[in-house]
Amino acid sequence: MQDHSKKFNLAYLRLAAFYTLIVMAISIIFSFTIYRIASVEINRGLGGQSNVMRNFYESRIIAELDRLRIDQINESNANLKINLFYFNLLILMLSAGGSYLLARKTLKPIKEALEAQSRFTADASHELRTPLTAMKSEIEVSLRDKNLTPGEFRKLLASNLEEINKLEVLSSELLKLARNENEHRQIGEVDLEEVIIDAYEKIAGLAEKRSIDFENDLSKVLISGDRQSLVDLFVILFENAIKYSPSKSTIRISIKQLDGRAIVSVKDEGFGINASDLPYIFDRFYRADSSRNKEKTTGYGLGLSIAKQIIRAHRASISVESEPDKGSDFQIAFETLK
Ligand code: ADP
Repeated sequence: MQDHSKKFNLAYLRLAAFYTLIVMAISIIFSFTIYRIASVEINRGLGGQSNVMRNFYESRIIAELDRLRIDQINESNANLKINLFYFNLLILMLSAGGSYLLARKTLKPIKEALEAQSRFTADASHELRTPLTAMKSEIEVSLRDKNLTPGEFRKLLASNLEEINKLEVLSSELLKLARNENEHRQIGEVDLEEVIIDAYEKIAGLAEKRSIDFENDLSKVLISGDRQSLVDLFVILFENAIKYSPSKSTIRISIKQLDGRAIVSVKDEGFGINASDLPYIFDRFYRADSSRNKEKTTGYGLGLSIAKQIIRAHRASISVESEPDKGSDFQIAFETLK
């Protein structure tokens, strides 16, 4: 992170110097042109006066007047030079300051994106290391024990398999996240009702296992989008609703149409989310810090960030209302097709 700051400070200075150079080049060309035009005008003005006088005065006086005129021209030119010098100095100071601020503003989004990327890589590496470390230490301890029984070996393998499963889930979520960032989507006319039914079919087994009921109030609504990504989006929301709900509860899915928008609501009767966690649940690797939820449920805190990517790609919006121990209501608003 510190390394980035150093690099960016250097980049601000370089970019500011570049902007200043451009402004100064323009200012110097401008000053040079002004100087040329003004000195020609001064010459012409004072020269014109002396030509008029030549008709009235004798040559001695004319010579004296010419000398005075040349002095006047030189003085005016010198004044002009000094004024232009101060003008350029002022421009230099203003443009250096302005350029630095502009450079910071230009590079700010790039700096933020790079920092987010570094944070993401650090978090991902940390998450990948945890199961690997657990597996390694279990294997090392077992190898040191010469009297390990076949039963204990089986236990070790079962535990390793559990860690491998976690790694599999994590790597597939990381892949989804990366793919969603760059993937070319197949945008077309999509019926939200069909998408929701498809997503429901994928998690129906999980819901049944936990004796969780789904109540649907759906209708056909056409939107423009990528069908597969939209199915992924609802699978994430449905899985979360199941994961964070007690068994034998109900999850209600509805679609309402309002002013050219379709609002899909996924409402559960689960553990809910604390108000202090709500602003962060869409951040990568964020898991609400309720020990009750964290201990009992699996996950890496990536589902909702993938959901947010899909929502952003569809120019839709998501809002959450939640009350601890009462449940959560995730609402997604899509623009409908006419
Ligand atoms: P994961 O579920 O893998 O932890 P997510 O990104 O899907 O990650 O969700 C982030 C966090 O938001 C979860 O850890 C959980 O605390 C909270 N959360 C998401 N959906 C719900 C829900 N329906 N009910 C309660 N908490 C939820």
